[in-house]
Amino acid sequence: MATPEEFHAGHMCGWDQVRLVPKIPVLAPRFVSRRQVFGGVGVLSVAALLAACGSEQSSTSGANGDSPAGAAPSVDPSVTPAKLGNATNGIDEIQGWQEEFYKDLHRHPDVWGEEARTAAKVTAKLEEIGADEILQIGGGVVGIFRNGEGRRVLFRADMDALPVTEATGLDYASTEEGKMHACGHDAHVASALGAAALLASNKSEWSDTYLALFQPGEETGKGAQAMVDDGLVDKLAGDKPDVCLAQHVLTAPEAGHVATRSGPALSAGDSLKVTVFGKGSHGSMPELGVDPAVLASAIVLRLQTIVSREIAPADFGVLTVGSVQVGNSPNVIADRAELLLNMRTYDPAVRDTMLGAVERIVRGECEASGSPREPIIESIATFPLTSNDPAVTDAVTTAFTQAFGENRVHELEAVPASEDFSRIPDAFGVPYTFWGNGGFLPGMNVVGNHNPEFAPAIQPTLRTGTEAAIAASLAYLS
Ligand SMILES: [Zn+2]
Ligand SMILES: [Zn+2]
Repeated sequence: MATPEEFHAGHMCGWDQVRLVPKIPVLAPRFVSRRQVFGGVGVLSVAALLAACGSEQSSTSGANGDSPAGAAPSVDPSVTPAKLGNATNGIDEIQGWQEEFYKDLHRHPDVWGEEARTAAKVTAKLEEIGADEILQIGGGVVGIFRNGEGRRVLFRADMDALPVTEATGLDYASTEEGKMHACGHDAHVASALGAAALLASNKSEWSDTYLALFQPGEETGKGAQAMVDDGLVDKLAGDKPDVCLAQHVLTAPEAGHVATRSGPALSAGDSLKVTVFGKGSHGSMPELGVDPAVLASAIVLRLQTIVSREIAPADFGVLTVGSVQVGNSPNVIADRAELLLNMRTYDPAVRDTMLGAVERIVRGECEASGSPREPIIESIATFPLTSNDPAVTDAVTTAFTQAFGENRVHELEAVPASEDFSRIPDAFGVPYTFWGNGGFLPGMNVVGNHNPEFAPAIQPTLRTGTEAAIAASLAYLS
């Protein structure tokens, strides 16, 4: 289990960029279908994402206006059924256990390193729905469904919750103080199990192998790597996937809709811990010391010039100093300062430039201050770039359009969020795509992932997540 410090530092799955959603009234949601703008190519922009995160209700109102904050309605009359042929036969019948499974996970959230209960429940359900083989790998679970010859698909769902105290008021709210499924991973698991169940019961609709992978520790960026380190590739050597797929519940588009993107979709993320050293002294005798508070302050200001002065305007980069710790007394000059930094990038070259600039500035400011010791710069969390394969994304987008209709399929603008999913396809050396699944209905209390009030609509979110997993998989399995 990660220490609180590790957890805090690594808690950067990145959907947190919508955590600061303004709870102000907004006009109608600005979702666009692919044909509504830009000559047929709709773009779900960050602005639309943020705009969609407001609500015409007050921030304390639910879908009905008088329900508790975070109340999740379970019906969406605006969503038309997906057209997936016989592959989703039985979807109405599984809805009961799927929703109960979701609520159970939501009541009992497991954070990184503690996913044993969730993994056991997933394993039991995979046995029940007829997986041909179930593997326990690095804290995760893989259910293998074999069905003749063709192409193999791996669909990944993350299982972990967050160190957040829930404030939704839901009747299935977390029973554990300080732990909450505030990023929708409970919905990912329930949707993935539903998809596996339907594929298992409709084997005449597809062929070859479906791998249902349930991953721990996405929020810390360590779970996918833990599975890889525990031999994921070797253990699946006989069932190596041709393509990997994953989805995430988002605040936009609205529930019942999906959003795809070709190329860089989620940023690479780096968290750094920087320790710089001064020389302790009495607060009245600065001439006898080296003040690390002044040194840290100079570093914080100078770091701001990396993106503004060293990165081309057309390139993307974010650098935030999220924490500065120096001393604990007004009249004592401390002997060290600790800074926690977070970086987001889409381009590996930009990432290299920024990492190099951080080191140069830290060392330069230490020298300028007369620091008595070399600084220590440590990487405490790293998330890889998520860059969706164009061909896979095209195939999946086409499958979604056929399944859902073009008005329910959107393009997602790249956002500075981060994920560790890509470590799995990268380990196999196969292409992948990662898409968004809308989780909120108009009029709901829409807050960003990681917010204590994060309460997606159970339906149509689970149903659409299930259908999306099947539609995307059938683009390769049939
Ligand atoms: Zn998250
Ligand atoms: Zn997440």
